[in-house]
Amino acid sequence: MVHRLREVLLLFSFLAILPKATGVEAYSRGGVIQESAAYCLSWRLAVEANNVRAWRTVPSQCLRYVETYMLGGQYDRDLDLIVDQILSYVNEIVPSSDGMDAWILDVDDTCISNVFYYRGKRYGCDPYDPAGFRAWALKGGCPAIPAVLGLFDYLVQSGFKVFLVTGRDKEALGQVTIDNLHIQGFIGYERIILRTAEFIGQSAVAYKSEIRRQLEKEGYRIWGNVGDQWSDLQGECLGNRTFKLPNPMYFVP
Ligand SMILES: [Mg+2]
Repeated sequence: MVHRLREVLLLFSFLAILPKATGVEAYSRGGVIQESAAYCLSWRLAVEANNVRAWRTVPSQCLRYVETYMLGGQYDRDLDLIVDQILSYVNEIVPSSDGMDAWILDVDDTCISNVFYYRGKRYGCDPYDPAGFRAWALKGGCPAIPAVLGLFDYLVQSGFKVFLVTGRDKEALGQVTIDNLHIQGFIGYERIILRTAEFIGQSAVAYKSEIRRQLEKEGYRIWGNVGDQWSDLQGECLGNRTFKLPNPMYFVP
């Protein structure tokens, strides 16, 4: 009987040390982290492909994933690849001499970055805070997104008319936005178009479509349209090609 009890105790001791000896426990912990990262990668891909729509917050388990994506280098690599594609396309265009070849660039998280504002909003895990964002924008401290600044300079130097089109409110944020862009090196664009009173309350798709329609009416040929939101790139008068920049932090309807 005593012998049998010793055998059972030995068996339990063996089972207790087995995970440590084989690394099963460590693998299990790593597996949970890998599973979460795999989910967040799927979620980000679905967001970028516009399969997930009208989402209000980043899933809370993806906070660290989005932080690592935005600040750990992959976001910049993704932008570099997209800008390379845009430049290949730009170089295929034969511009005319009438000065009516145009490009449209969005402003927030296209030309200038709000990532440091969103760091304080848990990279989009917290819901949209209009007053908080306005206070941040009023500081005029958004840094340039380097890959897009390079694209902007190339377009201007190549003779394209660059229009910056933003949903920011003209009255409240017009001058600070112009100053912010200037300080960050966005110099030489044809026009910046901000949201005026007549467009307040309109969706980004309706507002930006109307702005592009007016530009086409003026005779501009929109060769390309670049933005971080699908609402920059949907609607009417979209331009010959659209380019979606990554943004896993928020969705603008
Ligand atoms: Mg934007």
